[in-house]
This record gives sequence, C-alpha cells and structure tokens, in this order.
Amino acid sequence: MSMGNDVIETRKDADGKNKNKIFCTFCPSKILNAGVARLINMEFALPYVHCKGEGEGNQTESISDYWLIENMFTFENIGVSHTVDKVKYLACADCERGPVGWHDVSTRKSYIALCRVKHE
Ligand SMILES: [Zn+2]
Repeated sequence: MSMGNDVIETRKDADGKNKNKIFCTFCPSKILNAGVARLINMEFALPYVHCKGEGEGNQTESISDYWLIENMFTFENIGVSHTVDKVKYLACADCERGPVGWHDVSTRKSYIALCRVKHE
C-alpha cells in the first residue's frame, strides 16, 4: 500500500528526513524524534496489525513507504518481536501492537512503515 506522493512529501524535510515526531497510532508512545530517519521506497510485505495475544496471522500487506533507521539506538521506544527469516518485527514498546515495521538482522537496519505510525 502506498500513501500517495502528496502525503509522503509533507512527511519529510529538505534532507529527506522525518519532519515530525513519530508515535504509535494506538497509544501516546513516542517511537522516533524528528529528523532521525530517512524516507525510502522499498517493497516489503508486513503482516497485518494484531493485538497482543491474538496470535500471528499469515496475511501480509505489501507496503512501499518506509522510514529507514540506521541504528536501533535511534529509537525512543520500540518493541522487538520474534525473528522470522533474518527479520525481527517491530511493535510499539508500550501497547505491543504491531508490526509497525521490521529490523534486518544481517544489515542491522530498521524500517518503520509510514502508514502504520502517527506523525505529529
Ligand atoms: Zn502503542
């Protein structure tokens, strides 16, 4: 799912970094400060959002707009779930809803889906 270029453009600053702080959509937990992640376009299929205890669904959603975070220590708050094929899914550290993105175990880079978080 793509959010459309108009919306995407408003999310980044002149350097292509996130202009706003990034929060969980379900609770007040702050995930990233402004200006720390770079907008990238890549296709990756994320499982649909589930709640804690609901169990893993097999269905995925193809998402193409992500914030790239080079270093895990950049996160203000983030939850890391189990590893699947060199990928760790990322969820809210507080309410544990997710996945909001994924972490590549081999490159140690993290990706947060724009459509799974709140920008303000
Ligand atoms: Zn949350």
